[in-house]
Amino acid sequence: MTELPRSVTEAAALLRARKTSALELADLALQRSHADRHNAWLHLSDDHARVQARAADARLGAGDAPLLTGIPWACKDIIGTKKIPTTAGSRILEGYIPAYSATVVERLDAQGAVMVGKTNLDEFAMGSSNENSAFGPVKNPWCAERVPGGSSGGSAVAVAAGEVLFALGTDTGGSIRQPAALTGVVGMKPTYGRVPRWGVVAFASSLDQVGPFANTVEDVAIVCEAIFGKDPNDATMVTDFPNDDLRRDLDKGVKGMRIGVPKEYFSVEGMEPGVERAVRDALNVLEREGAKLEEVSLSLTDHGLAVYYIIQPAEASSNLARYDGIRYGLRVEGPDLLETYRRTRGDGFGPEVKRRMILGTYALSAGYYDAYYVKAQKVRTLIKETAGNIGALRPQRGTSGRLAGHRERLPGAHHVPRRGVVRARHSAPPRTTEGESRMKATRRSLTNAKVERIPASGIRRFFDLVSGTEGVISLGVGEPDFITPDRFREAAVRSIKDGKTKYTSNYGIRPLREAISDHTQKLRGVRYDPEREILVTVGVSEAVDLALRATLNDGDEVIIADPSYVAYVPGIVLAGGVPVPVATDERHDFRLRPEDVEGAITSRTRAILIGFPNNPTGAVLTEDDLKGIARLADEHDLLVYADEIYDRLVYGVRHRSIIEFPGMRDRTIYLAGFSKSYAMTGWRVGYACAPAAVIEQMMKIHQYTVMCVPTAGQYAALEALRTGEDEVLRMVGEYDRRRKVMLKRFNDLGLHCFEPRGAFYCFPNITSTGMDDEQFAERLLLEEKVVTVPGSAFGERGRGHVRACYATSLEKIEEAGERIARFVGRA
Ligand code: PLP
Repeated sequence: MTELPRSVTEAAALLRARKTSALELADLALQRSHADRHNAWLHLSDDHARVQARAADARLGAGDAPLLTGIPWACKDIIGTKKIPTTAGSRILEGYIPAYSATVVERLDAQGAVMVGKTNLDEFAMGSSNENSAFGPVKNPWCAERVPGGSSGGSAVAVAAGEVLFALGTDTGGSIRQPAALTGVVGMKPTYGRVPRWGVVAFASSLDQVGPFANTVEDVAIVCEAIFGKDPNDATMVTDFPNDDLRRDLDKGVKGMRIGVPKEYFSVEGMEPGVERAVRDALNVLEREGAKLEEVSLSLTDHGLAVYYIIQPAEASSNLARYDGIRYGLRVEGPDLLETYRRTRGDGFGPEVKRRMILGTYALSAGYYDAYYVKAQKVRTLIKETAGNIGALRPQRGTSGRLAGHRERLPGAHHVPRRGVVRARHSAPPRTTEGESRMKATRRSLTNAKVERIPASGIRRFFDLVSGTEGVISLGVGEPDFITPDRFREAAVRSIKDGKTKYTSNYGIRPLREAISDHTQKLRGVRYDPEREILVTVGVSEAVDLALRATLNDGDEVIIADPSYVAYVPGIVLAGGVPVPVATDERHDFRLRPEDVEGAITSRTRAILIGFPNNPTGAVLTEDDLKGIARLADEHDLLVYADEIYDRLVYGVRHRSIIEFPGMRDRTIYLAGFSKSYAMTGWRVGYACAPAAVIEQMMKIHQYTVMCVPTAGQYAALEALRTGEDEVLRMVGEYDRRRKVMLKRFNDLGLHCFEPRGAFYCFPNITSTGMDDEQFAERLLLEEKVVTVPGSAFGERGRGHVRACYATSLEKIEEAGERIARFVGRA
């Protein structure tokens, strides 16, 4: 097992079927968590986790274990854990080791769950972006430049990045709900009073609540069942909730359910269009599933934030008075007691915490207490009364994953009310750019939410950085430096002179389809009917897109190698599918191994996308790999997309295609093209070969979107197939010479590089420099003007590597080598 199961329920089933053990799950969770690159963890408790896992295995063996037995989980570091450090994300608690565990932790211990460690958070849970931790910000695993949301960001990220199967967070003003939304996991703030807070570091006591993160709603319900319920140590618990089976009605759906939608929630100032869109999308889903949406009014909504912003800092200032250097954590000695307090608190608290304490102390101070704190309590009661029994969906006021570093303008600006009773003196006016205010006029987002969520290509950013800079050597772009051979260009010119300037058949010109058919027969021994089984496309790019869109239904899972070509994940997502990356690594020559593919197959798997020779690693698959994948495809009735754009660019090995294996022609969409092997990137010609039923559906999309590939390009491609073999061999020979030079250079420099046998990329491991791949690529560009692409642009498993393309002259490769040597020497 290389990845944790998808859910608690799946893991519980595997444990009971003896297909894994609690120890194996704990080891895997620890291994993944130690490798975490999002700063999600503050403390990993290896020994503790293994002791718990062994006990869980014994319990499972005895046969009466609860569902959470042996399940690895993560605990927000504001929840006290006996004998395990608890910092609340603050220097002031550094070194503090509680003498007892919070009730929620004890309850999970009693279930046999395995706590892997403590997760990062905004200091004392004050923040909504996780940039306020004293131990550095947490990054969003989907895009490191974006915040994961806070304050329970570390817990959300640990689940989203597959490091644990569930986590606990706390939510005072959105601290579970927001990071869950921004990292794409399920999170819930339970009703205040249902979960004991005994042993949880207090922030704003009348609002704080512990709650779970997990991958599925069912898992969240399972965790809630474990932690809900009265605790004699917590006097604020509600006592009259029946603690019934929360999962009982889970599969009944929402049909017939009435859902109140407070109209005021959609006119909250500062709500980002992306957030509103996501909420409206969710409402649409509920409606489609049969729920009845009813507009309701919560007329005091506007005052909610004002009240929150009095009560929360007031309670915080009171709760945080206890950190004085005497009882817990940090102590900075002064000449007298008062100075010791001052120094300890001055050094120990971060700026956000100090700001809130000042604001809260002000609201509680003599003369203001009634005007602010008491009044806020009264308004809170009124709000509660108007809410009555309305069950409402509440959009979080916040961001749709804003860029890290774009700090809030004033402490907790996300909480500051428009016409509230508190307004910090130096508050800037609410941030509305011209564009944003124009957007507001439309009320709905102008753009599609699915597309909005897709990040722009990590490669492009590097191209943009170099455009216009003198003396840059680019090993960045994956395209041949050769000009398209003369004969192909002349064929295109001839076609234009002959007046072939009209649309062609949607499928592409007939002679080209015939030539493709002959070519595939000759190279792969497989024949496709030029009439119905071949479609000429705008590069392999369009072919990949058409193949995905024509075959995937919503929620279908597609297995891909990690790392792999940047367009696969967005292509699958846009087609409604779910990409399932399968790790490849240097130890196994970056091959996509059948045993790893098998481990990723679920009942939702629809297809396997094979892009080999691989971009960015240059890896090729062995005959046994292909046989194994073919067997899996057959056994599980899966489609295969075979992107063979680099099929001719192999060195010292023979390329084999999956379509050559028995039965595979009929379940494979074979995709190839002219860009790389024939040096024709700008002509935009590729093709797809597949059973007629598939090509027919792909053709419809193609017909309605691009009609046909530009005519002159088709004639150039035809010439390439007819007479271009010598040119291909000439260029392959040249790439091979360059490959050897670049490979040797990287290895000589101590940047270990596995030998690429295909495509035209080297993928050296740069971790020995102490930099991460983004830093390496960015600094190499700025300091030595050499462009490479960070491996993480191609997937999680690309981290620690950079992609360097050797489709450039030997002279430039040598010069780049000199520059990289200088750079590495300095690092
Ligand atoms: N597939 C892979 C693996 C690629 O690397 C590329 C381009 O870099 C493409 C497809 C797109 O190729 P085309 O130029 O034919 O659209």
